[in-house]
Amino acid sequence: MEKKPDLLSMTKDELREYAVSIGEAPYRGDQIFSFFAKGARFREMTTLSKALREKLESLAECRMPSVVTKRRSKDGTTVKYLLSLIDGECVEAVLMRHDYGTSLCISSQVGCLMGCKFCASTIAGKVRDLLPSEMLGQVAAASRDSGERVDKLVMMGIGEPLDNYDNTVKFLRLLNDSEGIGLGLRNVSLSTCGIVPGIRRLADEGLPVTLSVSLHAYCDETRRAIMPIAKKYTLDELLAACRYYFDRTGRRVSFEYTLISGKNDSPEDAKGLSALLREKMGVPSHVNLIPLNRVDGTGMEPTGREGAERFAALLNSLGQNATVRKSMGADIDAACGQLRRSLQNGKTEV
Ligand code: SAH
Repeated sequence: MEKKPDLLSMTKDELREYAVSIGEAPYRGDQIFSFFAKGARFREMTTLSKALREKLESLAECRMPSVVTKRRSKDGTTVKYLLSLIDGECVEAVLMRHDYGTSLCISSQVGCLMGCKFCASTIAGKVRDLLPSEMLGQVAAASRDSGERVDKLVMMGIGEPLDNYDNTVKFLRLLNDSEGIGLGLRNVSLSTCGIVPGIRRLADEGLPVTLSVSLHAYCDETRRAIMPIAKKYTLDELLAACRYYFDRTGRRVSFEYTLISGKNDSPEDAKGLSALLREKMGVPSHVNLIPLNRVDGTGMEPTGREGAERFAALLNSLGQNATVRKSMGADIDAACGQLRRSLQNGKTEV
């Protein structure tokens, strides 16, 4: 059977061409494009004729995810969505209400190949990449469900965005289109475990997204013990790519550092980290300290809140800007991959 075209992955121009190819006026493409931004499916595109809606249903594909379950944290600030894709696979997105607006964390793949030892998303490996439509659809669906405009987007959910490069970049361009969702790319953070060629390529795309790099260690030996990607690229190579990103985009790079008790949270680690960033980046950067979320079977324990604050204070006293990330939604398994994983283990009723 021939594959149906995935209209939600198309740019406005591509949708116009598509409309013409099925015997419709080009502006129909524009209408479909703006309906998608509101999370609509073909049957809900009520300004199109019924005949056209039916034609689209039979000829094309709408990969808008649907909400399977949602969990709201007790304080109401965080909503975690489990979203199903048209082949029945599931991904997660987390909506967080902050004082400065609403942010959404989305997934880029079903599962993950990267194998970080502390992460729930990678335990069962990667099932498949997400298409641009399935990333854009997470934003549209969460925004529609919550009734909130997404002000800030973080690609920190399930998956490694730079291991799904082309789909990720196309998604970012679609997201930015002012006739669609229209989110400014300065309000987007893309998090990577450190795929060096991907960082360099992204630096040359002319997209002003904030790069977040998961560092988690200041020396190769410790990093290799918890992140297999560190066996492929050394910290020297990784930080040279980060510096290149800064030079090309002028945007401050942010580093994520998950604090794991006894593994990477000593004063020597903090000193090593500040020295590394001073020597290898040499330009201002930010360190986001994340207290580890416990994942069953990893045997790793989080550093306590006080320890995390001490680590941050030491970094700041050494001239390295650092903050401890506020933990939101811990009561609803809001950390990466935990909800999808509990579903796989049959713990969640859906
Ligand atoms: N693949 C990308 C983005 C997804 S993970 C990356 O590696 O950056 C988003 C962030 O959450 C990463 O910094 C990741 O290392 C971190 N993370 C994963 N599992 C975690 C856990 N159990 N506790 C705390 N942080 C975790």
